[in-house]
Amino acid sequence: LIQLYIPLNFLGVLYREIKQSLTDLDRMFTLLEREREIADAPGARPLAIEHATVRFEHVDFGYHPERQILHDVSFEIPGGKTVAVVGPSGSGKSTLARLLYRFYDVDGGRITVDRQDVRQVTQDSLRRAIGIVPQDTVLFNDSVRYNIAYGRTSATQAEIEAAARAAHIHAFIAAQPRGYDTMVGERGLKVSGGEKQRIAIARTLLKNPPMLIFDEATSALDSASERAIQGELASAARGKTALVIAHRLSTIVDAHQIIVLESGRVTERGTHAELLASGGTYARMWKLQQSGSGERSMPEQTVPAT
Ligand code: ATP
Repeated sequence: LIQLYIPLNFLGVLYREIKQSLTDLDRMFTLLEREREIADAPGARPLAIEHATVRFEHVDFGYHPERQILHDVSFEIPGGKTVAVVGPSGSGKSTLARLLYRFYDVDGGRITVDRQDVRQVTQDSLRRAIGIVPQDTVLFNDSVRYNIAYGRTSATQAEIEAAARAAHIHAFIAAQPRGYDTMVGERGLKVSGGEKQRIAIARTLLKNPPMLIFDEATSALDSASERAIQGELASAARGKTALVIAHRLSTIVDAHQIIVLESGRVTERGTHAELLASGGTYARMWKLQQSGSGERSMPEQTVPAT
């Protein structure tokens, strides 16, 4: 039996290795495909950061020419401040983040960081300056240490731990028998949505970029986890220029400015108090979410963005 077991076991290992390699390849091709769309302009220079002030100026954009998604979108995130974007599902909020990270180029208008058009600087320098905490973090099939240090591979164990502590995930990791060597991802320890997001926050804290994009998860966390994540987010965003894509309005009451996006157009802007006072879409959304009617996130976009 042992003679049969060894080859079978070997085949099992081999199968998992191949599957893992395919996952990695898949990820690589997705990245390569994106790279192909966007290239450095001839003579592109590294981004020079002074205050990390971000400006969207009359931005038009569509993934396909026949369907424009963003229409004449303009706003500024002053260096070190947080601007939050809210609006119905499909209104174009995540698209703003993708354009700032330059996964795509705008069709009209421009996006600048400290007055430099993002199309004129090297992609590498732009992306190094931005930390993203995405809606749904994909963890690599590797150790927790690798997953956190991914943002800065030269980080020491002490730095990794400090980032994990700040993201309130250290105690969870330390409680695992293998600590930071615990494997996560499909093959390893199953982690909850909140824990994944904390690992992503730790990764971003370690990278310590001047700009931050936080794409809040649509899936509702329980309110205790939600409040905890909000606290961790606030500490991650302190002093950084942050674009927060929010689904729950309670997350963003302190934002420097809130932008309401509907069908790819900015329809309202102001602070939480100003928007409540003006009695528009934001005020209606706020009432709806406060009423505890179970409506925790925005309704679906009903008007097609044409
Ligand atoms: P949600 O709140 O549900 O995350 P959102 O406001 O972030 O939504 P986006 O993800 O920016 O919305 O999408 C805006 C529109 O662009 C949607 O109609 C969506 O279907 C479309 N879209 C998004 N990504 C692509 C893509 N890669 N190719 C084509 N269309 C896309």
